[in-house]
Amino acid sequence: MKIWHGKCHCGDVSFSFQAEGITDGLRCNCSICKRKGALMSSFVVPIEDISIDVVNDVLSVYQFDNGVAKHYFCKHCGIYPFHETMRAPGNYRFNLGCIDEVDAFSLPFEVFDGASL
Ligand SMILES: [Zn+2]
Repeated sequence: MKIWHGKCHCGDVSFSFQAEGITDGLRCNCSICKRKGALMSSFVVPIEDISIDVVNDVLSVYQFDNGVAKHYFCKHCGIYPFHETMRAPGNYRFNLGCIDEVDAFSLPFEVFDGASL
């Protein structure tokens, strides 16, 4: 296991978690993900295993429809760093573009059909 560190663009939201190597990603075609366009982690991590640091109270959350999924974003720079999933509440996926060690443009990915949920 390795500790991965990520942050939003301005750095006011940072996070870290443990995972094996990040070798692929996930995209989703639901109404919000298609707008964000981010490559997400293909795995989820339970909230208790994630370290999240926020300064200046910039972490905000957006919810819609059934309100189960929580789409977090930085109020300062607008970046989406992670979200709590709808299918497995309490578990989070990450925006791989926020992790400098990961080249999100070189990873293979699957497309999840979130639009059909
Ligand atoms: Zn920010």
